[in-house]
Amino acid sequence: MTHAVASRMWALEPATYVSPAAAQLLGQEAPRIPFPVYLVEHAEGLVLFDAGLAPEAAGDPGSVYGELAGRLCIDFAREHLIEHQLQALGFSLGEVTTVVASHLHFDHAGALKQFPHARTLIGSGEMTYALAPERFASGWYRREDFDDVHGIRWQEIPCDHDLFGDGAVTALHMPGHTPGSLALMVRLPGSSYVLTGDVVHTRGAYEGEIAYHGDVDTVAARQSLRKLKFLADTHRANVWIAHDPDDWVHWGGAGEKR
Ligand SMILES: [Zn+2]
Repeated sequence: MTHAVASRMWALEPATYVSPAAAQLLGQEAPRIPFPVYLVEHAEGLVLFDAGLAPEAAGDPGSVYGELAGRLCIDFAREHLIEHQLQALGFSLGEVTTVVASHLHFDHAGALKQFPHARTLIGSGEMTYALAPERFASGWYRREDFDDVHGIRWQEIPCDHDLFGDGAVTALHMPGHTPGSLALMVRLPGSSYVLTGDVVHTRGAYEGEIAYHGDVDTVAARQSLRKLKFLADTHRANVWIAHDPDDWVHWGGAGEKR
């Protein structure tokens, strides 16, 4: 079966943070971990995969995230803003027609409110959980990011979903990290990618099929990870682990992907 392809894809220049455990161990040498945002151009519209941090936090993350900003050494400058980076590529926020939210954790959902004109896909169960998370997970959700007041046009998807019906861009249902976690498969003219969202956090965990301590359901998380591996193998797709700094180096960092 032949599939259509998306015309172009970019990884935007990401804001970054440092894991407190790594900082304690390695000090200044601790790797900076990206807060990923990707843009995909398809003949039928622009797709944003994840929305990073809240735009009002740019330049002063502490004003929005409080002490967490310092604890994670968040680097979020105005140059990282999605609107600036879209502009540099010749686009505007208004041209994004579909947003896919891998999940609603604050580091993926911060700018969703800038796209009320678009459809915003989330996995089923995500919103229900985000509104009443378990205690251990509550620090990851920031109600302001997905509040009704923003008029975000949510579309909950209960399974894998081919965005344009042509096989070019597919949201993959991957519950476990959170109940509604999604990954995204993108076919480009020269290659295909599976963008993991938070289905898995490191290359080592991917290879070893190891769940993350912050996953809501570790059994489901491992199952989703195996599904992701299987799909990537079947479709010969590159797997880009969103929060793994080494993966960012491996796939060439920010910029256009082919
Ligand atoms: Zn997460």
